[in-house]
Amino acid sequence: MLDKKALRQKFSKSPEEYFAVKVLKDEGFIRKKCQNCNLFFWSTDENRNYCGNPSCSGAYNFIGKTPALHKLGYIELWQCLRDLGIRQ
Ligand SMILES: [Zn+2]
Repeated sequence: MLDKKALRQKFSKSPEEYFAVKVLKDEGFIRKKCQNCNLFFWSTDENRNYCGNPSCSGAYNFIGKTPALHKLGYIELWQCLRDLGIRQ
C-alpha cells in the first residue's frame, strides 16, 4: 500500500485519477490486486481476487452484486460482465 506522502504525490500529478478514486470509494469500491496479472482493479467484492480481464476473471465465478457499475459507467468491468454473458 502507498503511504500518504506517496499518494499525495501521485494525486498531484493526476487529479482526474484522484477524483475517480474518491468516487469509487464513495460507491463502496475497494482497490484490489489481481492475483493472475498483478494489475490493480476496483471491486465492490472484497473477496474478489481477479481483475476484469476475461483471461483472469474467466477463471473466477464472478457474478457479484454490482449496483454502482452502471451508475459509474465503469467500462472495463461492464465489458467483463458482458463477456461473461451476464446482463443487468
Ligand atoms: Zn488480471
